[in-house]
Amino acid sequence: MSDQPAIARVIVEVARNREFDYRIPERLRGTLSVGVQVIVPFGHSEARGYVVGFKDSSTFARLKEIREMVGRQALVGENVLKLARWIADYYLAPVETAVRAVLPGAVRNKGAGYQERLQVVPAALSHDEAAMQQLRKRAPKQAVALDILLSGGPAFLSHLARAAHTSPAAVRGLEQKGFVQISRQTAERDPLAQQVFLRTEPLTLMPQQAAALAQVKQSMDTLQPPVILLYGVTGSGKTEVYLQAIQHGLKRGRGAIMLVPEIALTPQTIERFRGRFGDTVAVLHSRLSTGERHDEWHRIQDGRARIVIGPRSAVFAPVRDLGLIVVDEEHEPSYKQEEAPRYNARDVAVVRGRMDRCAVVLGSATPALESFYNVRRGKYALAAMPARVDHRQMPVIRVVDMRIEAEREGQAHVFSRELIEAIKARIERAEQTMLFLNRRGYASALICPKCGYVAECTQCSVALTYHKATDELLCHICGAHRRVPARCPAPGCGDPAFRFAGVGTERVEIILHKLFPFARVQRMDSDSTTQKGSHRRILGDFRTGQTDVLVGTQMIAKGLHFPNLTLVGVVFADLSLHRPDFRAAERTFQLLTQVAGRAGRGEIKGEVIVQTYTPHHPAIQAARRLDYQGFMDQELEARRELGYPPFTHLVGLTLKGPSEQKITFAGDLFVKQLKPLLDPQVQMAGPLPAPLARAKGDFRYQILLRAPQTKQMTGPLRQALAAFQWPPDVACAVDVDALSLT
Ligand code: ADP
Ligand code: ZN
Repeated sequence: MSDQPAIARVIVEVARNREFDYRIPERLRGTLSVGVQVIVPFGHSEARGYVVGFKDSSTFARLKEIREMVGRQALVGENVLKLARWIADYYLAPVETAVRAVLPGAVRNKGAGYQERLQVVPAALSHDEAAMQQLRKRAPKQAVALDILLSGGPAFLSHLARAAHTSPAAVRGLEQKGFVQISRQTAERDPLAQQVFLRTEPLTLMPQQAAALAQVKQSMDTLQPPVILLYGVTGSGKTEVYLQAIQHGLKRGRGAIMLVPEIALTPQTIERFRGRFGDTVAVLHSRLSTGERHDEWHRIQDGRARIVIGPRSAVFAPVRDLGLIVVDEEHEPSYKQEEAPRYNARDVAVVRGRMDRCAVVLGSATPALESFYNVRRGKYALAAMPARVDHRQMPVIRVVDMRIEAEREGQAHVFSRELIEAIKARIERAEQTMLFLNRRGYASALICPKCGYVAECTQCSVALTYHKATDELLCHICGAHRRVPARCPAPGCGDPAFRFAGVGTERVEIILHKLFPFARVQRMDSDSTTQKGSHRRILGDFRTGQTDVLVGTQMIAKGLHFPNLTLVGVVFADLSLHRPDFRAAERTFQLLTQVAGRAGRGEIKGEVIVQTYTPHHPAIQAARRLDYQGFMDQELEARRELGYPPFTHLVGLTLKGPSEQKITFAGDLFVKQLKPLLDPQVQMAGPLPAPLARAKGDFRYQILLRAPQTKQMTGPLRQALAAFQWPPDVACAVDVDALSLT
């Protein structure tokens, strides 16, 4: 008997945003703890849930009993559970959805577990000569297996059976007769098992690094200040600062979480961490198998791994005694989860830091305007590293006006003469080039030159992209593919000649082959990296100098470091500028700066060529001057005037469904009911068609709210949503602090 209260509060995985009371059966009293997974009766069947708290009495008279406990360990620590509740509250997500987000499926699901293998060892009878003689006579195959075992030592059941050309059942027969013992052994799957990492020692820091590290250490020791924005230009040595700060924590018994954008979690990044800290580093990312993820998670939970490196969901890693959370490339939109709960891992990191009393470092060469503003108003401290390590020079950035280029050439080309000359010079000098274009495929549209017909997806409001490798038209929204029509399908046209408009990486690669037949060209985008390991191979080839020109999408823009890369070309900078998004200028500036930062990280000064049709745009000019501060000041002013983030918070509601009429009808009604609940400071617009007006056959509408505080919107929204019944075929998704407004 224990004095544990008799009632547990349980979040049920299938339930809508509620906690339920369950009676704790006598046999489980005292053994349950917060975070333990349980099976409870629910409705007419049963459901899985998590214990989130205890109480002595309940207002419900007839409580059901918890059926059983799954596993012995709490799967969610109290702190992570608290974080899940914060997320549910702040991002208006059902609490069970938030709990699910903090626990990887690989750990939560019943099926997943340690890989178990059956190990066979000789037992006493195998030393009995008489018994052995008899076995040889009566069951020669079993005897062979036993002989192999006796000479070769313990073996896995399946291996032994195969080696003895017999069945597993025959080996089990040996166990029944008392010749061997079979036991379960857990085998850990180590995602990095085949790799050897060279041990590295801490580098002697540059003065700017030493100063930044001192600030971080002070934050770790005293929580004064609690959050530091590490603004360091590309190549300023931020990673070395992270490594030494983590080491500082380890010496005091404290662990660390290092968040990186998924795309930046390259073998290079992992190598730097493993090289410094060995196998106390756990890696979590989406390319791991379920089993690998399960094992890595438990290595962290047990404290065998003290450092976790991973993308956004790693912010929930069950690291005990957390001393530091680093969010590298903190400006990256990929930290925002695009499905419920729509959290931003950078902001969650700051909240977890406060809850776990650990320091938080946000690092970037181009911090998000929100973070820049938080420094301005004293919420975050700033550590700046304005110079590159070893005072290597920043690259020269040249902007090429493609309008002039088109006039001169009489037609628009993919490559300007400047860019062609620059690539040629690199190939001759055996230096390397990277070409960046954020669109995959061959052509962004297929157009009939006679009638202007554009091949569009029937389910989405976008043009289909032509992919030459597969010779088909592909929708980048829903993935539908179609064959290229032989003639223009527009009524009354039927022209057989199509024109490919716009370029994608595939076309850039093909043009390069034509321009430089002897150059070694590779392409890296999501089409060329579908196979496991291809990502690694392409980057490996580039690093070892087996590629002259690497063409790629944003996959190549991040965190990579190649000393022999001296030229970066941005094929079409306007692509990100013309997006229907108030952050388009900020994004373009960040992207150009990041891409440019890849050039000239070795001995030779780098060069960057930016091709654009809007050469005077402030984002492009500021990127050319490497003027982060200037750009952000200007952008901040513009946002202040327009009342956009970071001066307000933004909540977006997206309404989706097959019937446009039902969406607008229900949307208008909802707005009408929400309006009286809102503070006059809240601005509301919509429902209006979303920039991506149709996707996957559904119409899409948006309602946008802006206000100085999120609470001014989420409070009334919660109330209105609870009272509102959406028609069954209209789905409403709420996105707090929305980053993408497509
Ligand atoms: P960032 O993350 O800021 O872009 P990195 O941490 O990748 O920069 O550092 C760039 C390069 O400089 C790396 O090769 C790194 O090993 C090297 N480096 C960093 N700090 C030092 C140092 N103090 N002394 C010598 N080399 C350094
Ligand atoms: Zn589509």
